[in-house]
Amino acid sequence: ERDVRGTAETADIRLEGVTKRFGDAVAVDELTLSIERGAFYALLGPSGCGKTTTLRMIGGFEDPTAGVVYLGGQAVTDLPPYRRDVNTVFQSYALFPHLNVERNVAFGLERRKVDRAEVRRRVAETLEMVQRGPLARRRPGQLSGGQQQRVALARALVNRPRALLLDEPLGALDLRLRKQLQLELKRIQQDVGITFVHVTHDQEEAMSMADTIAVMNHGRIEQAGSAEELYERPRTAFVANFLGVSNLVDGKVLERGSQLATVQTEDGTVRVPCDRMAETAGDGVRIGVRPEKIDLVAAADGAPPGRNALRGVVSVASFLGVSIQYVVLAPGGEELTVIAPNREGHQPQALGVGQEVLLTWDPGHTFVVARDA
Ligand code: ATP
Repeated sequence: ERDVRGTAETADIRLEGVTKRFGDAVAVDELTLSIERGAFYALLGPSGCGKTTTLRMIGGFEDPTAGVVYLGGQAVTDLPPYRRDVNTVFQSYALFPHLNVERNVAFGLERRKVDRAEVRRRVAETLEMVQRGPLARRRPGQLSGGQQQRVALARALVNRPRALLLDEPLGALDLRLRKQLQLELKRIQQDVGITFVHVTHDQEEAMSMADTIAVMNHGRIEQAGSAEELYERPRTAFVANFLGVSNLVDGKVLERGSQLATVQTEDGTVRVPCDRMAETAGDGVRIGVRPEKIDLVAAADGAPPGRNALRGVVSVASFLGVSIQYVVLAPGGEELTVIAPNREGHQPQALGVGQEVLLTWDPGHTFVVARDA
């Protein structure tokens, strides 16, 4: 039997074996997760993977079919939203159109019968934090989308909840404003030190803000970790592909040395740090490498010693400004992507379409994903 109480008590938010079914459909599937106090935690995944349903169960807007939700060590599964010490910010700002900014933000405090002077002080302070002090007298209809979302944020923060739940809060904004608000949200979270749980389908958004990202697929968490962990060491093909270009190639383990294992693929031999995989000689494995880790060299030049090398033929070369992107067709049929920085000494010369090349990289940059996916 597992003792879940220890974790439940140290984590700010904890889900234990939480399942949500809508009829026959399983939206969230025996999910277990822990979010530390003060973390910026992102639930990331494609449409329909169960992110919003997970968030709504933390907020109390949806009852789990099974499992327990803990906030600050206390089981809250049966408590309604207003009895949980969390606030939610939605994509639609849900401001009261007939109240000005100040009154919108003050609403929750006034309802709790907080002293007038105290309300005024806390509203001003919170609007200051989201840099909206000067707009205090305006009504929501007189604000842009980005301004309204800042006010919605202030309204959710003003009573200092244990945690803030954000459901695609930037989804309705244009790209430039999104980028700006991503940075602001992160700054605000660091300032207030409140736990943020942020739902998004945008990997760049999750990576730019969250300390921990949980990648969801079919109602489960495939992998959780820092942006760097997920990008450099994805454990499934789904995570590898969701966070970027992954260059996956199937092979078979030839041998395991003390540090590196050797994997034979149709495109060449690859060495992989042994601690990345449990497979032994004869087992099938799927390896991957990120496009910017790869150097492209003419096949005739050969690979520098110590580096992995796969063979292929350049099929597309695109000038992208900051970088040059190559698509290389490998003998095994995979289309591998290489991104070379547009910089002196890094610009591969004369590697045009049809050129036979080697893709070389440091073995340490090889990752291994589960083969079934
Ligand atoms: P999106 O980004 O599109 O909102 P999501 O990852 O947040 O996707 P959920 O909204 O949590 O996904 O939905 C998960 C699954 O549960 C989907 O298949 C969805 O159709 C289903 N679902 C969600 N809410 C309901 C509901 N009230 N009734 C029936 N099915 C629902």
